[in-house]
Amino acid sequence: MAIQRTFSIIKPDATKRNLTGVINAKFEAAGLRVVAQKRIHLSKAQAGVFYAVHAERPFYDELCEFMASEPIVVQVLEGENAVLKNREVMGATNPAEADEGTIRKEFALSIGENSVHGSDAPETAAEEIAYFFAGLEIVG
Ligand code: ADP
Ligand code: MG
Repeated sequence: MAIQRTFSIIKPDATKRNLTGVINAKFEAAGLRVVAQKRIHLSKAQAGVFYAVHAERPFYDELCEFMASEPIVVQVLEGENAVLKNREVMGATNPAEADEGTIRKEFALSIGENSVHGSDAPETAAEEIAYFFAGLEIVG
C-alpha cells in the first residue's frame, strides 16, 4: 500500500478539554504523520457545507451547531493506508461501540460529541483536504 493522505478534525468537545496533544500522540503512535494542521472556528454555515452529505439526517442541525460551538483543529494525516488506519485509531462513531484504546473509546462524550472526524475514503479525503487547505500548507 502506497503512502496516502486523509483529512482529520479534532472536534469542539476535544479542543475544549485540551486534548489536541494526546489525540495527536495517538495518530503519531499509529504511524500517521501530521503534515498540515491549523486551529479554526467554523461558522454554522461552513460546518453545514462540510457535512452536507448528512443534510437529510435528523441530527444534522445539532451536528452543525456543535461543530461551530468552539474552535476545531483541522489536519492532514499522511502514512501507509492512512484513510483506513485513521478510522481504526478513531474507533466506531458511537463510543459505546468503539474498541479499547481508540480515541473515541477514551475521549468521546457521546455519539455526536465524539472528538474526531476522519475521511471515509480516498476520494472524500481529497475533497475534504481541498476544502480546508491550500497545497502550499501541506508539507509532507
Ligand atoms: P463518522 O464520523 O464515524 O464517519 P458519520 O459520518 O456517520 O460518522 O456521522 C458524522 C458525524 O455525525 C458523527 O461523527 C457524529 O458527530 C454525528 N452523528 C452521527 N450519528 C449521530 C447520531 N445518531 N446522533 C447525533 N450525532 C450523530
Ligand atoms: Mg463520516
